[in-house]
Amino acid sequence: MLDIQKIRADFPILNCTVNGKPLIYFDNGATSQKPQVVIDAISNYYKEINANIHRGVHTLSQLATDAYEVSRGKVQQHINAKHSHEVIFTSGTTQGINLVASSFTALIKAGDEIMVSALEHHSNIVPWQFLCERTGATLVVIPMNDKGELIMEEYDRLLSEKTKIVAVNHISNALGTINPIEEIIAKAHHVGAAVLIDGAQATPHLRPDVQALDCDFYVFSGHKICGPTGVGILYGKEAWLNQLPPYMGGGEMIKEVTFEKTTYADLPHKFEAGTPNIADGIALGTAIDYLNGIGFENIQKQEKELLAYATAKLLEIEGLKIYGTSENKTSVVSFNIEGIHPYDIGTIIDKLGVAVRTGHHCTQPIMNYFNIPGTVRASFSFYNTKEEIDIFVDSVKKAKTMLS
Ligand SMILES: *Cc1c(COP(=O)(O)O)cnc(C)c1O
Repeated sequence: MLDIQKIRADFPILNCTVNGKPLIYFDNGATSQKPQVVIDAISNYYKEINANIHRGVHTLSQLATDAYEVSRGKVQQHINAKHSHEVIFTSGTTQGINLVASSFTALIKAGDEIMVSALEHHSNIVPWQFLCERTGATLVVIPMNDKGELIMEEYDRLLSEKTKIVAVNHISNALGTINPIEEIIAKAHHVGAAVLIDGAQATPHLRPDVQALDCDFYVFSGHKICGPTGVGILYGKEAWLNQLPPYMGGGEMIKEVTFEKTTYADLPHKFEAGTPNIADGIALGTAIDYLNGIGFENIQKQEKELLAYATAKLLEIEGLKIYGTSENKTSVVSFNIEGIHPYDIGTIIDKLGVAVRTGHHCTQPIMNYFNIPGTVRASFSFYNTKEEIDIFVDSVKKAKTMLS
């Protein structure tokens, strides 16, 4: 069993008060909080080894380079990538998807199809729309059902030789649905399509095995897995990364530059132009160590209990409807109360110290599907407790009374 109080003590911010009340942080889907070890990793880097990497022969530059590459190795191990040069540091999920969508331009022609799903975050929709605009390809969408699950029969029907890449999330940020990505990947490969998995919401809860999944690309953000903002990971299969042209040009990504022609550096540097986010890249490795120290089985067990507890308690409130009711879901509860705008609930419970997200959660197509302006979304992490859920549910009840 996890000692939740001991874990909570690792996170300084969980001791804060907000509007005079103890903070109850249920906006983990937007970003997670950071343990002291991660905060220390960032400040220790600047205090002790700050230097530019891969350039200097001097000692600090070597130390910084080593620490950065050690962190890349931790990510490689964590996601079970075959090679460390298949792990590309990015600024986050959004940049990872934009990189792939941009570099794919060279491989796409008019009439090709790019497939996303009805459950995607805007950052896994818009870059593909850009790609379609550049190339004349068509965006095809796998629809979902009322439970917020992808309709796999429709996927089978839509998939064809025209499909060049399928980009879907592992877990939906708005509804929590865990998508059957193994099946999606296998079927896409059957028609010769590549697959990009948006793992931004999965990596806080599980350890993806990119080789077992056999995905071509897997992207995620550091800040949702107890790491810093401004750093993320693009995993890509070596063959794909070698085939794709670079995304950005600049320092570090070249072999030789003349005004006539430039040749590119080997992986991973080909995709890492410019001075990277060294401190946060190193701290991402620390965050991964921290989560593995707790153990993803323990994390899942705790979050599963929180989800079941919160779901049952919320459903006791009359007029409350939960969106996203798949049996396969993570610790996210998206809901509305009849006749009340989600924003009003969020504002009132914030006064009571409870942080949730309200709005469309960067997934307007999902909100359009349900014909709602948005939802209140509570997303739980392993450091949350049932006592916090009790206070949260009471605060929602208070808000309901005030607003109806
Ligand atoms: C948060 C999120 C993103 C975007 O991540 P950034 O860190 O903002 O780049 C993309 N997809 C999903 C599913 C997300 O939850």
